[in-house]
Amino acid sequence: MSSQFPLTDAHGHLQADRFDADRVEVIARLRSAGMTRLLVPSWDVASSHGAVEIAREHVWMDAAIGIHPHHASAAASHRAALLARATEPEIVAIGETGIDTKRNYAPLADQIANLEAHIDVAVQLGKPLILHCRSAGEGDDAQRQLMKTLRESPIGAPGGAAAFEGRAPFILHSASGSQGYIEEGLALGGMISVSGLAFRPEERATAEWIRIVPAHRLLTETDAPWLSMPGAPDPSRNEPANVALTLAWIAARRGEGVGELAAAISATYDRAFPRHRPRSV
Ligand SMILES: [Zn+2]
Repeated sequence: MSSQFPLTDAHGHLQADRFDADRVEVIARLRSAGMTRLLVPSWDVASSHGAVEIAREHVWMDAAIGIHPHHASAAASHRAALLARATEPEIVAIGETGIDTKRNYAPLADQIANLEAHIDVAVQLGKPLILHCRSAGEGDDAQRQLMKTLRESPIGAPGGAAAFEGRAPFILHSASGSQGYIEEGLALGGMISVSGLAFRPEERATAEWIRIVPAHRLLTETDAPWLSMPGAPDPSRNEPANVALTLAWIAARRGEGVGELAAAISATYDRAFPRHRPRSV
């Protein structure tokens, strides 16, 4: 699956133990597929350390640290110490964090407190949030709660996004929901990142709203090792190189050339995540 286009994976968990046995090969494959932008986000304390280690070793990659809503209760006592690391140069974003009422592994109040703590750090440092949001079935309670918390935070206040200097204060990662939700996220200044979730029948709204997201607010991602999509070489484990499949799906629905879209998404990534290290070794 080699591509002459610059591929962007704005959300690939390369630190996951599913890659421990063959991480070198996975990285070789994503490089030969043409990947030039990769953000490694985290879900808890250990994965945050892992993300930073990988971004240190591969200086063209970036890291995000944070606590996923699933771990909002269990990791709460370690949160402040973890987020104090967010000033480190490998860390270009805060997350993933957010709201998940699909699995409800943590009480909603803990998820909201966790999200608010991440928002505070993001606003202080001007580093964007990576936001996870899923509701059960066709529901949208998680999406409504996420937007409410954002609106009531400094990000929703007049001039409150000033810390981000005109950049997006957040990325709706693996965006899932109605067109109204996507429009609300865009209105709050956010970016929309599309994963292999788009291929699922229950996510059919994506095929509609994918056309209204401006290219300068649109990102591609895998959420590897999860969310494998049809056509992936190994259906049981997603990997960053597979983002080419999602890119092609988006280009077809938007009636755009794949190469042109790939270049636009790469430029969007650079605007979303300003970095302070040289990209090449
Ligand atoms: Zn993720």
